[in-house]
Formats: sequence, C-alpha cells, structure tokens
Amino acid sequence: MNLETFSFETDADGIAHAIFDVPGRSMNTLTGKAIADIIAITNEVASNEAIKGLVISSGKPSGFCAGADLGEMGQAAGGKPESEMSEAELKKAQFDRGFALNKTLRELETCGKPIACALNGLALGGGLEVALACHYRVAANDNPKLQFGLPEAKIGLLPGAGGTQRLPRLIGVQEALPMILQGTSIKADKALAMGVVNELAASSDTVQKCKDWVKANPEAKAPWDEKGFKMPGGVVHRSPGAGQVATMSNAMLAAKTYGNYPAQKNILSCVYEGTQVPIDAGLRIETRYFINTQQRPEAKAMIRSLFLSTQALSKGASRPAGYPKYELNKVAVIGAGLMGAGIAYEQAKAGIETVLVDISVENAEKGKDYSRKLVEKQVSRGKMTQEKGDALIARIHPTDNYDDFKGADLVVEAVFENPELKAKITKMAEEQLGDTAVFGSNTSTLPITGLAEASVRPENFIGIHFFSPVERMGLVEIIMGEKTSEETLAKSIDYVLAIRKTPIVVNDSRGFYTSRCFGTYTQEGMQMLSEGIKPAIIENVGRQSGMPMGALEVSDSVGLDTALKVGRQMAQAAGIDYNGNELGQMMAWLVEDEGRVGRKAGKGFYDYNEKGKPARLWPDLNKKIDVKIDECPPEMKKELTNRFLVRQAIEVARCFEEGVITDARDADIGSILAWGFAPYTGGCASYIDLIWGIEAFVAEADRLADKYGDRFRPGALLRDMAAKGEGFYDRFPPAGTPAKVAA
Ligand code: NAD
Repeated sequence: MNLETFSFETDADGIAHAIFDVPGRSMNTLTGKAIADIIAITNEVASNEAIKGLVISSGKPSGFCAGADLGEMGQAAGGKPESEMSEAELKKAQFDRGFALNKTLRELETCGKPIACALNGLALGGGLEVALACHYRVAANDNPKLQFGLPEAKIGLLPGAGGTQRLPRLIGVQEALPMILQGTSIKADKALAMGVVNELAASSDTVQKCKDWVKANPEAKAPWDEKGFKMPGGVVHRSPGAGQVATMSNAMLAAKTYGNYPAQKNILSCVYEGTQVPIDAGLRIETRYFINTQQRPEAKAMIRSLFLSTQALSKGASRPAGYPKYELNKVAVIGAGLMGAGIAYEQAKAGIETVLVDISVENAEKGKDYSRKLVEKQVSRGKMTQEKGDALIARIHPTDNYDDFKGADLVVEAVFENPELKAKITKMAEEQLGDTAVFGSNTSTLPITGLAEASVRPENFIGIHFFSPVERMGLVEIIMGEKTSEETLAKSIDYVLAIRKTPIVVNDSRGFYTSRCFGTYTQEGMQMLSEGIKPAIIENVGRQSGMPMGALEVSDSVGLDTALKVGRQMAQAAGIDYNGNELGQMMAWLVEDEGRVGRKAGKGFYDYNEKGKPARLWPDLNKKIDVKIDECPPEMKKELTNRFLVRQAIEVARCFEEGVITDARDADIGSILAWGFAPYTGGCASYIDLIWGIEAFVAEADRLADKYGDRFRPGALLRDMAAKGEGFYDRFPPAGTPAKVAA
C-alpha cells in the first residue's frame, strides 16, 4: 500500500496497526488523501487473510483527529456543479462523493475482523466518526485536553460519516441528539459513563489495550449488527421517551433557531428517519441530508466565516509582514472604569504586567476589584486554580502616578469619551513613554486622526477598540489613523493576539466600522415603530431574523437619550426636521416627557426588573404610536426581516466603498462578533454574496429604497460589482494592511 497519512504494519500475531499521522501538521484532519488511505487500509484488512484484526491510533501526541479538513471542504462546498453532467449524473456523482467515507467505514465495520481505536486525545467530528465505526474504543485518562464531540452543527454542517446513525444506536437518541444538535463535546470520564468509549487507560497504554482486546475478540461485531439489536432507550416512533425527545428537540430548535439553520433541521430528520431503518439504509439517509446541508449557502458562509476566517484572523492574518514579533512585558491602562478594568483583567490573565491608572489610587483599586471578583468566581467554579488567580491579581498595579508606566511597551487609554481629556492624557502619557511604545485609544466614536493630533508621535497612535464586557467579547477593532504606521499596526495586532482576541483592521471614520453599522439595526427598528408597526412584532421579527436581541431592546441597552441626541445630530446634518417628524416626536416624548431613557433607568421601550432584565414591553407605548400593523403574516415577516438585514448590509457596503473596511473577512467577522449579525449568513458581506447573490441583493435593495427611502439605495460600488458579477470576496480578497483614506 502506498499510504501518505498513515503508517501500517502487521505484527507476528496478525494484528495490523494503522497510525494516523498527517505529515507536516500538528493535528490530524481528514483530508482527501487521508480518506483515500482509509479506503486502502479497509481494502487491505478486509482482503488479506493474514490480517486478523486492526488497531487504529494516532501518531500525534496532541490527539487522534480534529475532523474533516474544512479548508478543503470550504472550497468544495457549494462550488459550481460539474457543468458537463446531466442532472441525474451530477446527483449520482455528488452522492458517491458524499458517501465514500460512510461506505468505507461501514465496510471496515463489517469486514468480519475486530477493529479497535486508541484515542490518546481529542477526536472531533469525522475523527470521532472513524472511532465510532470501530468495535472498541480505548481513551486516555491522563490527557486534560482530550475531548470527544461532533461539532459540525456549529458551522452549519452535519456529521456525514455515520455520526448521526452510530451515536444514537450506541447511547440512545436522548443522549445523542443534544450532543449532535449543539455540537457539545465531552471528556473521557463522561464518554466512558455514557458508553461512547469502552475503556480508559494511560495514553501510553491505549494501543496495547486495543491490541489485547482485538486478540481476545476475533468474532467482534458492532452492537447494531448483532441479531436482536435494540436501540438504547427505544426507537423514536415507538418509545414514548425517545419520541418525546425528538418532539421536544424539534420545538426547542424552532424556538432557538427560528428555522434559520438548515443543518440542525436536517440532523433531526437524519436521526428520526435513519434510526427507524437498518443502519445501511440509515447511512444512505445521512449522506442525502449531508449533501443537502453542504450545498446550502448557509453552510458555505458559516464554514468560511466561523471557521476559516476566524481562525486566520485570530492567527494574525492581517498583520503586515516584515516586523519582528512585539514582546509586551508591561502595558499601561489609563482609566479604570468599566472598560479599563476589563482590559486590565484580560492583560493580566495573559501574563502581561499591567499598570492601571486612574485619577486616584482608590479609583484604580476599584478597577482592580473587578479582576478580584472575576478571579474569585472562576476559582469557586473550579475553572482557575487559586495560585493562578493570585498571580493574575499580582500583575495588576493600581496607581494615580503616571511615572509608574515608564518603560511600558503599549498604553491603552480608556478615560471618558471627551476629546480634550483624551488629548491631555495623551500628552501626559507620552512624557513617560519611549519612542517605540504604542499609544492605543479605546474610543468608540472619536476619529483617531483627530485624537492623534495631540500626539508627538502620531505614527505610534492607533485605535484599539474593545467591546463590553471585555472578558466575554472576543473581537478587537483596530483603527488606523491617517499617520499610523504599519509597524504600529503590527505591534497592535501582536498585543491583541497576546490577549487571545481576534483583531479586525479598519480605517478611520466616524463610528469606524462596527459602531456605525450596528446603529442601522436599531434605527430601522425605531423607524418601524414610527410607522405604527406593533412593538412586539418588531422585536419578534428582529430575533427571528437571527439577531441576538430585538432592535428596541438593543436601543434600550445603548440608551434612548443617546439615540435621541444622535438622531437629532444626523437629521441636522441631513437637513431633515427631526423634531417635526413622527420618529423625532416619539423619541422626544419618551426621553424628555416620560424619562424613559433605557435599561440604565429601568425603563425605556421595556420595563426592567430589579436584575436589569427586560420584564415586558412598556404597555403605554402602543397608545402613543397609533398602531397600524398588529398582525404579522409570513409576507410581512419576510419584508421586515429584509429591512433589518439589508439595511445593515447596505451600510457595510458603504464602508467598503469609502475605504473604511478593505478585507471581506474583517467585514464578516466584525459583523458577527461585534454586533451579532445573524451568524447563519456568515456575516454582512457573505449575506450579500452568498445568501442573496450580488445581483439579487442590489435588486432587493433598490426595491426597498423605492418603498422606504434612500437609506436602502445601493451605491456605485454595489452596482459595479453586480454588473461584473463580483462578490465581496472577489473584490476585496484577504489582504494585508488596508489602504489609507482621509478621516
Ligand atoms: P467609565 O466612565 O466607566 O470609565 C472612565 C474612567 O476614566 C473612570 O474610572 C475615570 O475616573 C477615569 N478617568 C477620567 N479622567 C482620568 C484621568 N485624567 N486619568 C486617569 N483616569 C481618568 O467609561 P468606560 O465605559 O470605561 O469608557 C471608557 C472609554 O472606552 C470611552 O472612550 C468609551 O467611549 C470607550 N468604550 C466604551 C465602551 C462601553 O461599552 N462602555 C465600549 C467601547 C469603548
């Protein structure tokens, strides 16, 4: 056999040993070549009479296999059909391709010889599916990084190598369904208790244990190939328990995903239909649903954004080349308020000595208390050792003395959003800093080029925009000022990566990228309200469109006083009489007459309970807004959904047109991680490219603009792209440093 990704040898007892070890990679994935090798090994084991059984293990110390190679799959998924085939030929070719691994693993399982799998570490997705097709599994009990799971659903796919069929047959539908639908993973102990693996052993013993088992069990079969096999917990359509799980899962799924995620729907169908028939038929059913899922635009969008682009950006794909890695030994945070306290925690957690400055030591200590509380919580939940927690806290040095950050490699300023104060801080800080230190501002709205005017080293000045709560939000928006140097960008990306967050890089403009685009969702919600659409409809459709919260609830969180101020400013700039129009009057009534400024006051569009959670939509709202639409049939839902999502995507397209954003990955990842843009779309750029297609999107945006106003009107860039049939990933492919634009 000519294998590339496995080594293969047979011992004197006739026990073959296949060691999975993809060359040049730290972890195995199921590449096309690996699948070809598994087919070759299966044929050899089945046909060679000298082979009495097989043990599969991994040559990687880190684990067995992380699953399908999504890089390969991302390129193939949804790709153009083979143009020369007839429809029937094409369907058959797609089925055969999708069924190849399923078919092979079934052949291995039924070859009449015992097969065991040694799992020294993680086995996810296709990796676990290979293991499940073996008759016996031994897992390491000494590898803390070990995890088993089928995470495909998280990126819009379903397990297509037998996972939806073998796992329910092994552990029952009740236990298997949540694992497959949610993509959750389990540790070795739990896997043993659930019956996912058969035995635990030290990593170094797993192979020998497998060999011993293979020798002792020459007649091994999968449980479902034994005569009289019964599904644990019963078959879905016959057992009340299993049936109830399937029905409830369906209802829970609908309530959670609103039908936006085809993978989850197809998983339920696979398990429901596939477990009622013999496994061979079940595996064919699985492949049909797998192909259907894989060909949906949502799958391609989710694989690209949630896996490939997220991974690339979090490894520093946009970092300009040619600068040595910036070592961050000491970083100062100025302003120990909500943001500064969170930033200090993240730095200290990453092992960076952190100086936390505020106007008094007392204030700075209060900021440090935030970390103390977080550490306490983590330690009490067993997620951090006391020792690690103490070390983290010891790295935060609260002070009111700027002298203390002499020698800092980077400063993040997080004082009040006031340009004069920020200018004063910049001058005071720079007096203490060396020529090579970076000055980062966490401003959420003030243009960086303007703030950098206070700096003696504007080339070292950059926007480093965190999101709240800092410890939970994984994104950081890096903003290039007009004079910011590439070297400063490289250093800032090194900083963001050091604290294990994902950077996107944008150019300077008011509201940058995220704050500017995010606002359009809430603005559209308020616009709908002023048109007389019932508040509950606005909120429900917002959530059903895939946004994490209704638009009115988000507005309450930001503050309705802020919304009123911004609305007035924007109307003035556009020459619109805000105070004279319905929206302006409604906002003024809410904020100025009723004092309903949002969540912070416990009252806004919603009434809030003592815990700050929305208790109900304010009933009197209906009285003021003269409700004209209080029913939401499907066509109305579609119209409102399109208004919400197209409006945001149009603003993103404008950011590309104005040079604020220059890499399609930044647009997608930024939109999902910063403001929760419907993740099944893969983000705003993929929503245009894949969910609509550029021409259809432009036509829809024009239709909406004719009906509701020019805020929906596509710009010259979109029209040009539509004329050329180009998507954002064609026009703005992954690049390095964004081109500079004037602020
Ligand atoms: P905050 O009011 O909670 O904290 C500001 C802190 O700065 C206070 O502790 C204050 O005492 C301190 N401060 C004021 N003057 C100072 C001085 N001369 N020297 C040292 N410290 C001083 O504000 P915040 O919400 O943490 O916001 C800080 C910055 O972050 C703002 O620019 C804001 O726009 C930006 N931001 C906020 C959020 C958010 O959600 N709150 C998100 C992203 C960015």
